[in-house]
Amino acid sequence: PLADQPLLDGVTGADTARRRRAVAKTITLLESTRADHRARADALLNALLPFSGQAHPERSLRLGISGVPGVGKSTFIEALGLFLIERGHRVAVLAVDPSSSVSGGSILGDKTRMERLSMDERAYIRPSPSGGTLGGVAEKTREAMLVCEAAGHDVVIVETVGVGQSETAVAGMTDMFCLLQLPNAGDDLQAIKKGVMELADLVVINKADIDAAAATRARAQITSSLRLIASMGVHGHPDHGHQPVATWQPLVIQLSALKGSGLDEFWAAVTQFRTVQTANGRLAARRQAQDQAWMWERIDAGLKRQFKDHPAVQQALPALSDEVRQGRVAASVAARRLLDLFH
Ligand code: GDP
Repeated sequence: PLADQPLLDGVTGADTARRRRAVAKTITLLESTRADHRARADALLNALLPFSGQAHPERSLRLGISGVPGVGKSTFIEALGLFLIERGHRVAVLAVDPSSSVSGGSILGDKTRMERLSMDERAYIRPSPSGGTLGGVAEKTREAMLVCEAAGHDVVIVETVGVGQSETAVAGMTDMFCLLQLPNAGDDLQAIKKGVMELADLVVINKADIDAAAATRARAQITSSLRLIASMGVHGHPDHGHQPVATWQPLVIQLSALKGSGLDEFWAAVTQFRTVQTANGRLAARRQAQDQAWMWERIDAGLKRQFKDHPAVQQALPALSDEVRQGRVAASVAARRLLDLFH
Protein backbone atom coordinates (compact mmCIF):
# COMPACT_ATOMS: atom_id res chain seq x y z
CA PRO A 1 0.00 0.00 0.00
CA LEU A 2 2.99 2.33 -0.40
CA ALA A 3 1.72 3.73 -3.65
CA ASP A 4 -1.71 5.25 -3.75
CA GLN A 5 -3.49 2.41 -5.50
CA PRO A 6 -6.69 4.20 -6.58
CA LEU A 7 -4.64 7.05 -8.07
CA LEU A 8 -2.24 4.62 -9.73
CA ASP A 9 -5.14 2.62 -11.18
CA GLY A 10 -6.78 5.83 -12.30
CA VAL A 11 -3.69 7.06 -14.14
CA THR A 12 -3.00 3.77 -15.90
CA GLY A 13 -6.64 2.83 -16.39
CA ALA A 14 -8.77 2.89 -19.50
CA ASP A 15 -11.54 5.27 -18.46
CA THR A 16 -10.63 8.57 -20.17
CA ALA A 17 -12.46 10.95 -17.84
CA ARG A 18 -11.29 9.16 -14.72
CA ARG A 19 -7.77 9.09 -16.06
CA ARG A 20 -7.72 12.85 -16.62
CA ARG A 21 -8.88 13.45 -13.07
CA ALA A 22 -6.32 10.99 -11.70
CA VAL A 23 -3.51 12.66 -13.67
CA ALA A 24 -4.51 16.08 -12.33
CA LYS A 25 -4.77 14.78 -8.77
CA THR A 26 -1.44 12.98 -8.98
CA ILE A 27 0.37 16.04 -10.29
CA THR A 28 -1.20 18.16 -7.56
CA LEU A 29 0.12 15.66 -5.04
CA LEU A 30 3.59 15.82 -6.64
CA GLU A 31 3.56 19.60 -6.48
CA SER A 32 2.67 19.69 -2.81
CA THR A 33 5.40 20.68 -0.39
CA ARG A 34 3.90 18.83 2.59
CA ALA A 35 6.19 16.07 3.84
CA ASP A 36 3.42 13.44 4.05
CA HIS A 37 2.29 14.32 0.52
CA ARG A 38 5.87 14.06 -0.68
CA ALA A 39 6.20 10.57 0.79
CA ARG A 40 3.01 9.43 -0.96
CA ALA A 41 4.08 11.15 -4.16
CA ASP A 42 7.48 9.45 -4.14
CA ALA A 43 5.90 6.02 -3.74
CA LEU A 44 3.41 6.77 -6.48
CA LEU A 45 6.10 8.05 -8.81
CA ASN A 46 8.09 4.85 -8.44
CA ALA A 47 4.99 2.77 -8.99
CA LEU A 48 4.25 4.76 -12.17
CA LEU A 49 7.78 4.61 -13.54
CA PRO A 50 7.42 1.20 -15.26
CA PHE A 51 4.50 2.64 -17.25
CA SER A 52 6.34 5.84 -18.19
CA GLY A 53 8.51 6.81 -21.11
CA GLN A 54 11.57 6.36 -18.95
CA ALA A 55 11.00 2.63 -19.03
CA HIS A 56 9.62 2.65 -22.58
CA PRO A 57 11.35 5.30 -24.71
CA GLU A 58 9.32 4.17 -27.74
CA ARG A 59 6.06 5.04 -26.03
CA SER A 60 6.41 8.76 -25.93
CA LEU A 61 8.12 11.70 -27.51
CA ARG A 62 9.12 14.63 -25.33
CA LEU A 63 9.08 17.85 -27.24
CA GLY A 64 10.46 21.13 -25.87
CA ILE A 65 9.05 24.36 -27.28
CA SER A 66 10.59 27.73 -26.58
CA GLY A 67 10.50 31.26 -27.91
CA VAL A 68 10.08 34.82 -26.74
CA PRO A 69 6.65 35.98 -25.54
CA GLY A 70 4.48 36.83 -28.53
CA VAL A 71 6.27 34.55 -30.99
CA GLY A 72 3.16 32.35 -31.06
CA LYS A 73 3.94 29.44 -28.76
CA SER A 74 0.44 28.86 -27.48
CA THR A 75 -1.10 29.35 -30.92
CA PHE A 76 1.39 26.84 -32.30
CA ILE A 77 0.98 24.28 -29.52
CA GLU A 78 -2.78 24.40 -29.79
CA ALA A 79 -2.68 23.97 -33.58
CA LEU A 80 -0.12 21.18 -33.28
CA GLY A 81 -2.05 19.49 -30.48
CA LEU A 82 -5.26 19.44 -32.52
CA PHE A 83 -3.33 18.25 -35.59
CA LEU A 84 -1.85 15.36 -33.59
CA ILE A 85 -5.10 14.39 -31.91
CA GLU A 86 -6.74 14.09 -35.32
CA ARG A 87 -4.00 11.62 -36.19
CA GLY A 88 -4.65 9.45 -33.16
CA HIS A 89 -2.05 10.84 -30.78
CA ARG A 90 -2.68 11.82 -27.20
CA VAL A 91 -1.03 15.07 -26.24
CA ALA A 92 0.03 16.50 -22.91
CA VAL A 93 1.20 20.09 -22.56
CA LEU A 94 3.27 21.11 -19.56
CA ALA A 95 5.03 24.38 -18.89
CA VAL A 96 8.15 25.61 -17.18
CA ASP A 97 7.91 29.21 -16.12
CA PRO A 98 9.87 29.97 -12.96
CA SER A 99 8.66 33.57 -13.05
CA SER A 100 5.03 32.52 -12.78
CA SER A 101 4.76 33.33 -9.07
CA VAL A 102 6.36 36.72 -9.60
CA SER A 103 4.27 37.80 -12.55
CA GLY A 104 1.15 36.53 -10.81
CA GLY A 105 0.13 34.08 -13.48
CA SER A 106 1.81 31.24 -15.26
CA ILE A 107 2.18 31.15 -19.02
CA LEU A 108 -0.48 28.52 -19.27
CA GLY A 109 -2.57 29.78 -16.40
CA ASP A 110 -4.69 31.95 -18.61
CA LYS A 111 -7.73 29.82 -19.31
CA THR A 112 -8.37 31.43 -22.66
CA ARG A 113 -5.14 30.01 -24.01
CA MET A 114 -5.45 26.78 -25.96
CA GLU A 115 -9.15 26.71 -25.30
CA ARG A 116 -10.02 24.19 -27.99
CA LEU A 117 -7.20 21.86 -27.11
CA SER A 118 -7.91 21.96 -23.40
CA MET A 119 -11.53 20.98 -24.00
CA ASP A 120 -10.52 17.82 -25.81
CA GLU A 121 -10.41 14.74 -23.61
CA ARG A 122 -7.44 13.34 -25.50
CA ALA A 123 -5.34 16.29 -24.42
CA TYR A 124 -4.08 17.24 -21.00
CA ILE A 125 -2.83 20.76 -20.29
CA ARG A 126 -1.13 21.81 -17.11
CA PRO A 127 0.19 25.27 -16.24
CA SER A 128 3.65 25.73 -14.82
CA PRO A 129 4.11 24.81 -11.17
CA SER A 130 4.50 28.13 -9.44
CA GLY A 131 7.07 29.45 -7.09
CA GLY A 132 10.45 28.22 -6.08
CA THR A 133 13.67 27.95 -7.99
CA LEU A 134 14.00 26.96 -11.62
CA GLY A 135 15.41 23.63 -10.41
CA GLY A 136 12.33 23.04 -8.27
CA VAL A 137 9.92 23.98 -11.05
CA ALA A 138 11.83 21.77 -13.49
CA GLU A 139 11.70 18.86 -11.05
CA LYS A 140 7.92 19.05 -10.74
CA THR A 141 7.59 19.26 -14.51
CA ARG A 142 9.80 16.23 -15.09
CA GLU A 143 7.72 14.26 -12.63
CA ALA A 144 4.48 15.45 -14.21
CA MET A 145 5.85 14.29 -17.54
CA LEU A 146 6.23 10.74 -16.22
CA VAL A 147 2.65 10.80 -14.94
CA CYS A 148 1.35 11.95 -18.34
CA GLU A 149 3.30 9.23 -20.10
CA ALA A 150 1.99 6.58 -17.73
CA ALA A 151 -1.51 7.83 -18.59
CA GLY A 152 -0.85 7.13 -22.25
CA HIS A 153 0.09 10.55 -23.60
CA ASP A 154 2.49 9.66 -26.39
CA VAL A 155 3.44 13.26 -27.16
CA VAL A 156 4.46 15.39 -24.21
CA ILE A 157 5.08 19.03 -25.04
CA VAL A 158 6.99 21.13 -22.53
CA GLU A 159 6.64 24.83 -23.19
CA THR A 160 8.85 27.51 -21.78
CA VAL A 161 9.09 31.25 -22.02
CA GLY A 162 12.18 32.62 -23.68
CA VAL A 163 13.56 34.22 -20.55
CA GLY A 164 16.24 33.21 -18.08
CA GLN A 165 17.71 29.75 -17.98
CA SER A 166 14.45 27.93 -18.46
CA GLU A 167 15.33 26.91 -22.03
CA THR A 168 18.34 24.97 -20.81
CA ALA A 169 16.16 23.24 -18.24
CA VAL A 170 13.56 22.29 -20.87
CA ALA A 171 16.18 21.17 -23.40
CA GLY A 172 17.52 19.01 -20.56
CA MET A 173 14.24 17.17 -20.06
CA THR A 174 13.07 16.66 -23.64
CA ASP A 175 14.07 14.49 -26.61
CA MET A 176 13.88 17.33 -29.07
CA PHE A 177 14.15 21.05 -28.47
CA CYS A 178 12.33 23.37 -30.87
CA LEU A 179 12.93 27.07 -30.94
CA LEU A 180 10.24 29.35 -32.33
CA GLN A 181 11.49 32.48 -34.04
CA LEU A 182 9.97 35.51 -35.68
CA PRO A 183 10.77 36.27 -39.30
CA ASN A 184 12.49 39.50 -38.23
CA ALA A 185 16.08 39.91 -39.13
CA GLY A 186 18.09 39.87 -35.97
CA ASP A 187 15.73 37.75 -33.90
CA ASP A 188 18.16 34.88 -34.36
CA LEU A 189 21.03 37.02 -33.09
CA GLN A 190 19.36 37.27 -29.70
CA ALA A 191 18.99 33.51 -29.57
CA ILE A 192 22.62 33.02 -30.58
CA LYS A 193 23.84 35.50 -27.98
CA LYS A 194 21.82 33.79 -25.27
CA GLY A 195 23.16 30.40 -26.27
CA VAL A 196 19.68 29.08 -27.03
CA MET A 197 20.29 28.54 -30.73
CA GLU A 198 22.86 25.87 -30.00
CA LEU A 199 20.28 23.92 -27.98
CA ALA A 200 17.86 23.78 -30.91
CA ASP A 201 17.25 20.56 -32.80
CA LEU A 202 14.70 22.36 -34.90
CA VAL A 203 14.10 26.05 -35.51
CA VAL A 204 10.61 27.10 -36.50
CA ILE A 205 10.05 30.47 -38.11
CA ASN A 206 6.48 31.29 -37.21
CA LYS A 207 4.15 33.94 -38.68
CA ALA A 208 5.42 33.21 -42.17
CA ASP A 209 1.97 34.36 -43.38
CA ILE A 210 2.80 37.96 -42.52
CA ASP A 211 5.83 38.28 -44.76
CA ALA A 212 6.83 35.22 -46.76
CA ALA A 213 9.92 36.88 -48.18
CA ALA A 214 11.19 37.83 -44.72
CA ALA A 215 10.54 34.29 -43.48
CA THR A 216 12.55 32.85 -46.36
CA ARG A 217 15.42 35.25 -45.64
CA ALA A 218 15.31 34.34 -41.96
CA ARG A 219 15.35 30.67 -42.85
CA ALA A 220 18.52 31.07 -44.94
CA GLN A 221 20.16 33.18 -42.27
CA ILE A 222 19.37 30.80 -39.41
CA THR A 223 20.40 27.80 -41.50
CA SER A 224 23.85 29.32 -41.96
CA SER A 225 24.02 30.26 -38.27
CA LEU A 226 23.28 26.64 -37.36
CA ARG A 227 25.99 25.42 -39.76
CA LEU A 228 28.46 27.78 -38.12
CA ILE A 229 27.48 26.55 -34.65
CA ALA A 230 27.82 22.93 -35.82
CA SER A 231 31.24 23.61 -37.34
CA MET A 232 32.39 25.04 -34.02
CA GLY A 233 31.45 21.74 -32.47
CA VAL A 234 29.00 23.28 -30.05
CA HIS A 235 26.04 21.19 -31.08
CA GLY A 236 26.08 17.46 -30.72
CA HIS A 237 29.03 15.26 -29.95
CA PRO A 238 31.47 13.79 -32.42
CA ASP A 239 31.17 10.09 -32.98
CA HIS A 240 34.11 8.00 -32.00
CA GLY A 241 34.99 4.91 -33.95
CA HIS A 242 34.89 4.52 -37.67
CA GLN A 243 31.38 3.46 -38.37
CA PRO A 244 29.58 6.26 -40.10
CA VAL A 245 26.36 6.89 -38.17
CA ALA A 246 23.66 9.15 -39.46
CA THR A 247 23.35 12.08 -37.10
CA TRP A 248 20.68 14.69 -36.91
CA GLN A 249 21.50 18.10 -38.33
CA PRO A 250 19.30 20.86 -36.92
CA LEU A 251 16.72 22.02 -39.43
CA VAL A 252 14.92 25.27 -40.05
CA ILE A 253 11.33 25.29 -41.23
CA GLN A 254 8.76 28.03 -41.58
CA LEU A 255 5.09 27.90 -40.83
CA SER A 256 2.03 29.81 -39.74
CA ALA A 257 0.57 28.67 -36.46
CA LEU A 258 -2.39 30.98 -36.97
CA LYS A 259 -3.30 29.54 -40.36
CA GLY A 260 -2.21 26.05 -39.39
CA SER A 261 0.00 25.77 -42.45
CA GLY A 262 3.31 23.95 -42.28
CA LEU A 263 2.28 21.66 -39.43
CA ASP A 264 2.69 18.57 -41.58
CA GLU A 265 6.21 19.65 -42.46
CA PHE A 266 6.91 20.24 -38.78
CA TRP A 267 5.63 16.81 -37.78
CA ALA A 268 7.56 15.18 -40.63
CA ALA A 269 10.75 16.77 -39.27
CA VAL A 270 9.96 15.55 -35.75
CA THR A 271 9.30 12.04 -37.03
CA GLN A 272 12.53 12.08 -39.02
CA PHE A 273 14.43 13.28 -35.95
CA ARG A 274 13.00 10.44 -33.92
CA THR A 275 13.88 7.85 -36.57
CA VAL A 276 17.47 9.08 -36.94
CA GLN A 277 18.11 9.47 -33.22
CA THR A 278 16.59 6.10 -32.41
CA ALA A 279 18.69 4.35 -35.05
CA ASN A 280 21.94 5.90 -33.85
CA GLY A 281 21.08 5.31 -30.20
CA ARG A 282 21.11 8.95 -29.19
CA LEU A 283 17.51 9.17 -28.11
CA ALA A 284 17.96 6.53 -25.43
CA ALA A 285 21.40 7.90 -24.50
CA ARG A 286 19.99 11.40 -24.13
CA ARG A 287 17.26 10.25 -21.76
CA GLN A 288 19.72 8.30 -19.67
CA ALA A 289 22.16 11.20 -19.49
CA GLN A 290 19.31 13.55 -18.60
CA ASP A 291 18.22 11.28 -15.78
CA GLN A 292 21.73 11.10 -14.36
CA ALA A 293 22.17 14.87 -14.66
CA TRP A 294 18.77 15.38 -13.05
CA MET A 295 19.66 13.16 -10.13
CA TRP A 296 22.92 15.02 -9.52
CA GLU A 297 21.34 18.42 -10.01
CA ARG A 298 18.80 17.56 -7.30
CA ILE A 299 21.52 16.20 -5.03
CA ASP A 300 23.52 19.41 -5.48
CA ALA A 301 20.47 21.52 -4.70
CA GLY A 302 19.54 19.37 -1.70
CA LEU A 303 23.04 19.40 -0.26
CA LYS A 304 23.34 23.14 -0.68
CA ARG A 305 20.06 23.66 1.13
CA GLN A 306 21.12 21.33 3.97
CA PHE A 307 24.46 23.10 4.13
CA LYS A 308 22.85 26.52 4.44
CA ASP A 309 20.42 25.21 7.07
CA HIS A 310 23.19 23.66 9.17
CA PRO A 311 23.44 25.55 12.51
CA ALA A 312 27.25 25.68 12.69
CA VAL A 313 27.45 26.84 9.08
CA GLN A 314 24.78 29.46 9.68
CA GLN A 315 26.71 30.76 12.64
CA ALA A 316 30.08 31.00 10.89
CA LEU A 317 28.93 32.03 7.43
CA PRO A 318 28.36 35.80 7.86
CA ALA A 319 31.75 36.49 9.46
CA LEU A 320 33.64 34.30 7.00
CA SER A 321 31.82 35.83 4.00
CA ASP A 322 32.82 39.20 5.32
CA GLU A 323 36.46 38.24 5.67
CA VAL A 324 36.47 36.99 2.10
CA ARG A 325 34.90 40.26 0.97
CA GLN A 326 37.61 42.24 2.76
CA GLY A 327 40.38 40.10 1.35
CA ARG A 328 41.50 38.68 4.67
CA VAL A 329 40.65 35.05 3.94
CA ALA A 330 40.99 33.34 0.58
CA ALA A 331 37.66 32.20 -0.87
CA SER A 332 38.82 28.60 -1.15
CA VAL A 333 40.02 28.59 2.46
CA ALA A 334 36.69 29.96 3.68
CA ALA A 335 34.85 27.30 1.69
CA ARG A 336 36.98 24.54 3.23
CA ARG A 337 36.41 25.86 6.75
CA LEU A 338 32.67 26.00 6.23
CA LEU A 339 32.60 22.52 4.69
CA ASP A 340 34.52 21.22 7.69
CA LEU A 341 31.71 22.52 9.91
CA PHE A 342 29.12 20.59 7.91
CA HIS A 343 28.86 17.07 9.24
P1 GDP B 1 3.14 33.28 -27.09
O1 GDP B 1 3.29 34.43 -26.15
O2 GDP B 1 4.47 32.88 -27.66
O3 GDP B 1 2.39 32.13 -26.50
O4 GDP B 1 2.32 33.83 -28.35
P2 GDP B 1 0.76 33.66 -28.71
O5 GDP B 1 0.48 32.29 -29.20
O6 GDP B 1 -0.06 34.15 -27.58
O7 GDP B 1 0.65 34.63 -29.96
C1 GDP B 1 0.89 36.01 -29.88
C2 GDP B 1 0.11 36.71 -30.97
O8 GDP B 1 0.62 36.33 -32.25
C3 GDP B 1 -1.35 36.37 -30.96
O9 GDP B 1 -2.08 37.53 -31.25
C4 GDP B 1 -1.50 35.36 -32.09
O10 GDP B 1 -2.76 35.36 -32.67
C5 GDP B 1 -0.43 35.83 -33.05
N1 GDP B 1 0.09 34.73 -33.88
C6 GDP B 1 0.54 33.53 -33.46
N2 GDP B 1 0.94 32.78 -34.52
C7 GDP B 1 0.75 33.53 -35.62
C8 GDP B 1 0.98 33.30 -37.02
O11 GDP B 1 1.44 32.26 -37.46
N3 GDP B 1 0.66 34.33 -37.86
C9 GDP B 1 0.16 35.51 -37.41
N4 GDP B 1 -0.11 36.44 -38.31
N5 GDP B 1 -0.07 35.75 -36.11
C10 GDP B 1 0.23 34.78 -35.22
